Amino acid sequence: MEISNLKVAVRVRPLNAQECLNPSVTNIIQVDENEVTVVAGTTADSSAGVSHSFQYDDAFWSVNSDDPHYASQEDVFRSIGIPLVDKAFEGYNACLFAYGQTGSGKSYSMTGIETDDNDFDPKSEAGIIPRFCKEVFRRINSLKKTTEVEVEVSYFEIYNEKIHDLLCVAQLESNGGANPSKRSALRVREHPVWGPYVVDLSTHPVDSYAALKNWLTVGNSQRATAATGMNDKSSRSHSIFNIVMNLSEIDEASEGVSKKIKHTKRSKISLVDLAGSERISHGSTTGDRVREGVSINKSLLTLGKVIAALADSKRGPSAFVPYRESVLTFLLRVSTVFFK
Ligand code: ADP
Ligand code: MG
Repeated sequence: MEISNLKVAVRVRPLNAQECLNPSVTNIIQVDENEVTVVAGTTADSSAGVSHSFQYDDAFWSVNSDDPHYASQEDVFRSIGIPLVDKAFEGYNACLFAYGQTGSGKSYSMTGIETDDNDFDPKSEAGIIPRFCKEVFRRINSLKKTTEVEVEVSYFEIYNEKIHDLLCVAQLESNGGANPSKRSALRVREHPVWGPYVVDLSTHPVDSYAALKNWLTVGNSQRATAATGMNDKSSRSHSIFNIVMNLSEIDEASEGVSKKIKHTKRSKISLVDLAGSERISHGSTTGDRVREGVSINKSLLTLGKVIAALADSKRGPSAFVPYRESVLTFLLRVSTVFFK
C-alpha cells in the first residue's frame, strides 16, 4: 500500500461562545505549518508547560480570521477537497471523513453554512461538500464535446448500524418529512462484481450544480429534522454523501460509424460527517476490550481498526482488514480497494 493514499489533516476551530465566557478556558493549541502543538496544563497543574507536537499532512488554523495564517473554508477545500476532485476525474474512488468530538466543527467543515446562492462567493462559509460539487460541475462544463458525463448523488445516514435514506422521495411525500424516525431502515447486500451496496437506496441523476444543491438541501433538512425528533441523534449518526461520476470518451475515429466506442471512467467519492468521537473509548481502536457501560458506536470503532490496518504497511497487502465488522466500513470498502 502506498501510505500517501491516506492523508490526515487537523483543523483548529475558534472557541465557542460558552468557552469564551469561561475564564478557565484558554487555547492550548498552536499550529506551525503542518505541525500541531498541544501545550498541556494550566499554571496550577503539575504538567503545566509540557508540550506535545504532532505532524499531519495538513494542519489548519481557523481560530481568528484576522490572523495571517487563518484557514478559511475555501483554504481547507483547496488543500483537501481539490485533490479528491482530481481523483474523481481520473476515475478513482475516494472518501473524506470528518472526525472529532461533537462541537469540534465536523459539520461546519463538511457542510458549512448553507447559502441560497448557487454561485456562492469563495469567501462564504459553505463547506467542503457544496464546494466539491460546484467544482465538479465547473470542470464538467469545460470538458471536450466528445466527453459524456453522468453524475448521480445519494445521501444516507447510519444510526445504530441502521441505514436511512436522506433523499427518498416516496418517504418524503408520504409523511412530508415530518416524522423521519419512522423511516424504514435499508439493508446492505454484497453484489458479486460491484461489492457492497445499500438495497433500494435512492440515487438522483443531476446535470447541474443547482440541481445537485436541491438534493443537498433536502438531505440536510432531513438530517436536521431527524435530529430534533430523537435526542442527541445527530451526534451519534454518520451521514454519507456520495457522488458517482461516469466520464465517457467517445472514440472520435468511430464517429459516424453505427457503433460508437465509449471509454468510461467511473468514480465514487464519499464525503462523510462522522458521529461524535466522544462515543468510543480510546483503547478500543486497538482491539482492546471496550469498557463496559460506554456507549459505543460500532461503525466508528471499526473505522479506527480499518484505518489502522490500512496504514500498517508492515503487515503487507494480505493483511486482514475488518471491513465487515460495521455497516460504514463494509459500504466504504469500495473506496479503499486500491490500497490492497
Ligand atoms: P460538529 O459537527 O463536530 O458537532 P459543528 O460543525 O456543528 O460541530 O460546530 C460546532 C459549532 O462551532 C457550530 O456553531 C459551528 O458553526 C462552529 N464552528 C465550528 N468550526 C468552526 C470554524 N472553523 N469557524 C467558525 N465556526 C466554527
Ligand atoms: Mg455535526
